[in-house]
Amino acid sequence: MSDAVFQRCIFPHCDGALAADDTSFTCPKCGGLLDVAYDWNRLKPPPALAWFESKWAERSNPLSFSGVWRFRELLPFAPPDKIMTIGEGQTVLQRADAVAQFVGMNAGCLHLQYEGMNPSGSFKDNGMTAAFTHARMTGAKRAACASTGNTSASLAVFCSATGLMRAIIFIGSGKISYGKLAQALDHGALTVQITGDFDDAMQRVQQVSRRLGIYLVNSVNPFRLEGQKTIMYRILEAMRWEVPDWIVVPGGNLGNVSSFGKAFIELMDLGLIKRPPRLAVINAAGANTFHQLYEKNGLRWNAGQPDAKLIDGYYQSLDMEKIRAATIASAIEINHPVNLHKALRALDRCGGVAREATDQEILDAKAKVGAGGLGCEPASAASVAGAKKLRREGIIAPSDRVVCVLTGHQLKDPTATVAYHSADRKTFDDVLGHRGVRRATFANRAVQVPNDLDEIIKAIEVYT
Ligand SMILES: *Cc1c(COP(=O)(O)O)cnc(C)c1O
Ligand SMILES: [Zn+2]
Repeated sequence: MSDAVFQRCIFPHCDGALAADDTSFTCPKCGGLLDVAYDWNRLKPPPALAWFESKWAERSNPLSFSGVWRFRELLPFAPPDKIMTIGEGQTVLQRADAVAQFVGMNAGCLHLQYEGMNPSGSFKDNGMTAAFTHARMTGAKRAACASTGNTSASLAVFCSATGLMRAIIFIGSGKISYGKLAQALDHGALTVQITGDFDDAMQRVQQVSRRLGIYLVNSVNPFRLEGQKTIMYRILEAMRWEVPDWIVVPGGNLGNVSSFGKAFIELMDLGLIKRPPRLAVINAAGANTFHQLYEKNGLRWNAGQPDAKLIDGYYQSLDMEKIRAATIASAIEINHPVNLHKALRALDRCGGVAREATDQEILDAKAKVGAGGLGCEPASAASVAGAKKLRREGIIAPSDRVVCVLTGHQLKDPTATVAYHSADRKTFDDVLGHRGVRRATFANRAVQVPNDLDEIIKAIEVYT
């Protein structure tokens, strides 16, 4: 790899750096997170964002067809012949007026960025194509991740579709939805289920990868976040290169919001946009470390010197009170977000806020998203629930242009959806009761009708 691309510690006071092909993914000086860094003077950044429209005429080239790699000049770490694409990033920005009304926004002001359309059904494919490409550049034969489900599904798809690597997946016990587990198994990944939750699995996969020299694709991997930047480029593209007022995204490991922040910081540095949008990160109330630290304890990036005592103290209190992450939104059921520091930087540069949404609020928002035309999994709907909250607080105005990112497909977690809409109280309570969900405000219940033509016709007339 050319030395115009390297890895650099995110802390401005630390001069830790690594070559681009290093796969340890931790700062050699301070142990912190790394960025993929570019010497733009020696690379060829695009002259203007509209320049990317020239790629639209090249759709027979898989690199220009990909919703990630058609922006490759903004993530120029890989030679084109090394790039591994499976057609990721063919996603849409959809105007959603019914959801806008639910959120309290004017018609035409709320859009949903539907990342469920990716090959494995979640936004993770945007990052996986980049990490997988980097893995290939470094000669890796095995790749591993810990996952609440979607990272493993994505890795399993990339490994099976390309036949280039073996996927090794760490999951916690009982913390993965069936749709996602089904993908890992069907695509032939080695699936290691350990007793413990996601945070435990995350610690173990890092130890194991280091010991066995297995390539790690979790979001500590800065190359993955390079791919996820393109979600923002596609939103800008769909908005004719105008920057929206708000991007609202669910927060789990905080990789997504970190990559969005990096995307906008780079576009500003390159003079390709004048101002960034504001970023809103939405935690589930049962996994709200970021909301607690940022909004309740005032933790800030602080020019690269965030208060380490505050963070340590918070985690100690979680341990002491034996508090474990618990939410129906399994993709964000994470209490130790790996990308905490990067997320602080993103919010600092993009005027960010954090909020939390209860499982009740998440599932009600999810039902509205579904009724509005796009199906998403529970974690994704946290963005809409959070936007509604920020609107009610007056932080988002009804006329702001808001994009909520729908991170994953509805069919990832059918159990939650079916329980929500079920007329049977036991089915509802078994899945949702212990989550503090009391009512299905927008349930669409199946209608019970005897097997009789007149009764069936009567029912249809009554309900339509
Ligand atoms: C991974 C995931 C998230 C959380 O994203 P982070 O980058 O970890 O904050 C949210 N929603 C879905 C569907 C996911 O798969
Ligand atoms: Zn460092």
